[in-house]
This record gives sequence, C-alpha cells and structure tokens, in this order.
Amino acid sequence: AKRNGRNRHEHFTLAMDDVARSRRVIENDLREAISGRQLKLYYQPITNGDNKTIIGYEALMRWHHPIKGLIMPNDFIPIAEETGLIHMLGAFALYDACREAASWEGEQSVSVNLSPLQFKNSSLVSVVEGALQESGLNPSRLEVEITESVLLDDSLGNIRTLESLKALGVQIALDDFGTGYSSLSYLRSFPFDKIKIDKSFINDMGDSREALAIIRAITGMSRSLDIQITAEGVESSEQFAKLREEGCTLFQGYLFGRPQPSELRLKALS
Ligand code: C2E
Ligand code: CA
Ligand code: CA
Ligand code: CA
Repeated sequence: AKRNGRNRHEHFTLAMDDVARSRRVIENDLREAISGRQLKLYYQPITNGDNKTIIGYEALMRWHHPIKGLIMPNDFIPIAEETGLIHMLGAFALYDACREAASWEGEQSVSVNLSPLQFKNSSLVSVVEGALQESGLNPSRLEVEITESVLLDDSLGNIRTLESLKALGVQIALDDFGTGYSSLSYLRSFPFDKIKIDKSFINDMGDSREALAIIRAITGMSRSLDIQITAEGVESSEQFAKLREEGCTLFQGYLFGRPQPSELRLKALS
C-alpha cells in the first residue's frame, strides 16, 4: 500500500510539473504573440430586439498560434493575468477595437472586456484615453465591460477609476451579472449604463424556475433603475421570445451572430 501511495504521489508531482512547464511555454509564446500579431479581435453583434438592428459589437480576443492553431480566451487570459501580460494584452484590445470601430460606416458601439487586474494599473484611464485619441472614435461609442469583482474590493479606488472613465464619455457595462458574488447593492455603487445577464441563466431558463426567477428580478429592477439589459448567449428563437416578454431589450448570441473577424463582419452586412 505504501509503495502504491508513493507512486501516486510521483504521478501527481509529474502532472504538476507538466502543468507548470506548459504554462511557461504558453507564457513565452504569449509574449511573442503580442509582438507578432497573432492576437486578433473577433466581433459579435449586439442586436436591438425591437427592430433587429445591430447597435454594437463585443470584441472577443482570439489567438492564432503558429503551431497550435486557434486558442480561445479562457485558455490564455488567465495566464496573461497571472504573468502581468494582461496589461499589454488589454491595451492592445482597447487600441485595436477603437481603431476598428472608427472605420465602420455606421455608428455602432464597440464593447471591450476589461480584466479586474487592469484596474491595478494606475495607467488604465490614460490607456483608454490614448486609444480614443489615436483612433478619433467618439468616446460614447466605446463601452467597457467589467465584472462584479472590480466592485468587491474598492481599496484601490476602482469606483473612482470607473468615474474617470465615465467622465471621458465611455459607457460602462456590468458583465456576467448574476454570477459570482452578485449583489443587487452593487448597482447602487455605480451608475452602470448596461447590465449583461450571464449566459448560464439564459441557457437554464427553459427548465429552471430559479433561472427564470433571477432573470425576472434583474429585468424588473433594471426597469426601475432605468438601466438597459443585454441577454447574452441567446441561441434559440424560443429564448429570444421569452426574454422579450420579460423585458430584455438587447440580445447577443449565436441566434444573431457568432464572433467573427471584422472582414467577415463587413461581408455579413453587405
Ligand atoms: P464574456 O465576456 O462573457 O463573453 C461572452 C462569451 O460567450 C464569448 O466567449 C462568446 O463567444 C460566447 N458566446 C456568445 N454567444 C454565445 C452563444 O449563443 N452560446 C454560447 N455557448 N456562447 C456564446 P469567448 O469569446 O470564448 O470568451 C470567453 C471569455 O474570455 C469572455 O467571456 C471574457 O471574459 C474573456 N475575454 C475575451 N476577450 C477578452 C479580452 O479582450 N480581454 C479580457 N480581459 N477578457 C476577454
Ligand atoms: Ca463580456
Ligand atoms: Ca459576459
Ligand atoms: Ca461570461
């Protein structure tokens, strides 16, 4: 039994070594990716449910690795956060998304995800300002998406940072609402322009009374606070119809369009 236990232990350390090694490889690759133009933003439409017009796009990052192929954000954003590379990556997203949106024919907005870690860098506001200046994009067409964890700990003055961003004219959305520590009281700490209901609730609402009840609570509250609600992860017309009934106004999901490179985005419009 003893021997068995040791073997298992060795297996465990080996596996840990593998994880650590592959993380280091990814970290090195990621440094090259940033300088080597392997990172690319894809754009997913956000649609007004009343008239089906596209009011904006969320920018979602993709990594085209020269050997491993397409890598999704959930597989590299956490590593970028652990290694501090998220600041470079985040600045790239802001600059690139603003430049891209400034070239669009229409007045659609562009939404950029901010990692909570970007709030630890005192230059966040000037990076956003730089992206707006360089692109000439009207600040009201830029939206940043933050998660509740940004509000959880205000020791760094995150609310003040949000106020500075707001003062630039940028829109602020609260992403993944309903997950995590979710407390309705967060909505009083800052005047958000938009709340995005996490796609797990949309996914479950067909067969979970709880999911539907939470969606109802969020839409009811948003009406009284006059905040717009985006439902994310809408995949079926049944979900769309039900969400409209519940008072959602903006929709994002495969039913309306998948994230695509901007070249294809244009093709879809024409
Ligand atoms: P998120 O901000 O919640 O983005 C929505 C995710 O849902 C995206 O996954 C999108 O492709 C996916 N999605 C959209 N519609 C549907 C649908 O109908 N069904 C399903 N099953 N999924 C749908 P993606 O692109 O893999 O991104 C994952 C997460 O990575 C994002 O979640 C966001 O937290 C993070 N992320 C992506 N790009 C960036 C970035 O530039 N910066 C930072 N900090 N995070 C990013
Ligand atoms: Ca988002
Ligand atoms: Ca989200
Ligand atoms: Ca999410």
